[in-house]
Amino acid sequence: MRSARAKRQIVGDRMQQAARRRGIALVPPQPQAVAQGEVTAKVARYLAETPLADPTLVIDLDVVEHAYLSLQRALPLTKIYYAIKANPAPEVIRRLAPLGCLFDTASQGEIDLCLKLGVAPDRIGYGNTIKKRSEIAHAFAKGVRLFAFDSQAELEKLAELAPGSQVFCRILVDCAGADWPLSKKFGCTPRLGVELLTRARELGLDPAGISFHVGSQQTDPTSWEPAIATAAEMTRTLAERGIEVRLLNIGGGFPSRYRSEVPPLEAYGKAIMESMKRHFGGRMPEIIVEPGRQIVGDAGVIQAEVVLVSEKDIGDEKRWVYLDIGKFSGLAETIDEAIKYRIRTPHDGGPTGPVVLAGPSCDSVDTLYEKTDLRLPLALQPGDKVLILSTGAYTSAYSSVGFNGFPPLKTVCI
Ligand SMILES: *Cc1c(COP(=O)(O)O)cnc(C)c1O
Repeated sequence: MRSARAKRQIVGDRMQQAARRRGIALVPPQPQAVAQGEVTAKVARYLAETPLADPTLVIDLDVVEHAYLSLQRALPLTKIYYAIKANPAPEVIRRLAPLGCLFDTASQGEIDLCLKLGVAPDRIGYGNTIKKRSEIAHAFAKGVRLFAFDSQAELEKLAELAPGSQVFCRILVDCAGADWPLSKKFGCTPRLGVELLTRARELGLDPAGISFHVGSQQTDPTSWEPAIATAAEMTRTLAERGIEVRLLNIGGGFPSRYRSEVPPLEAYGKAIMESMKRHFGGRMPEIIVEPGRQIVGDAGVIQAEVVLVSEKDIGDEKRWVYLDIGKFSGLAETIDEAIKYRIRTPHDGGPTGPVVLAGPSCDSVDTLYEKTDLRLPLALQPGDKVLILSTGAYTSAYSSVGFNGFPPLKTVCI
């Protein structure tokens, strides 16, 4: 006998499928747990029924869809390009594509992956400002017509190998407030950007717009404000030269839920749209967002196993807990303890003590949290399964091919 709840779920799933076939986006009813990046009932059921020997990332595709629809609702006037580097699982792309999602790519491999999954080339943007000539030529041959750049040399490559394409110039912005800043690697100064967009038209390209990224896991919704102000000023200067840029790509940066609370997406939508109105007034450009982390982060849970719990000295209060997953098998964002994941154990609720958390490999950098104040149950034992929450973004793709013979992080999408 199916419970009433299970029946409602089935009816709900069928409505979703029917709506999706008709191209209608329905917002599924979500239990409170989903919004906070907790383990969903579906994932809990899967983990209970499936013995997993190696660390495994389980992605709940319903949460991916919910995250996409939530962003669409928070920023209704924007076009959403999912930055597939955050999690390139084909199932994620297949789930997002019918919802109308577009895709931000950074390499030939990511472009080919999208194309193989049936994404049309006019729904793909090539957002990396650093591309080989062969990669530009490949993308252009496949029909991609939207490219990022941040330098004169890249612009000239684009003019030659992707003639007539739409190009947008990435500018340097302040990443304060971001737990994973993208700092100085990408972007040029606004004044160089104005010159380069002017040059783009002379080279026969379409100077479509301006882009920036305020840093990943950006916890301050007002961080977009100075960059939007700068972009508006550039847009006015360019208009005086007869160049009408019509796209503003405000990047990604929308957060997942790690140890600290983050503002709700609505706060981001509100702050961004207020900045847009303040600086662009009635002459609003088309807005593009490129979320990565926000789309997949909270949708993923890694199940890992405790390998050892030990002390370094007699009477040490601080225990060392070693897991079968570490920096080389998916948890690279623990570098500098930047991203602080929440961890669930079978003993939650019992007494806890301070720990250092480390991975299994024979490299001392494979220590996850040493400075971070992390406490885990005193009852924690080797063999216990632990859950690392909100790990859908920047984990599986960062996993090494097999350092020390540990297998790369497996992904299961359900
Ligand atoms: C990584 C990246 C993104 C995604 O950033 P998130 O912080 O994960 O949202 C978007 N755009 C570009 C160009 C990127 O490099």
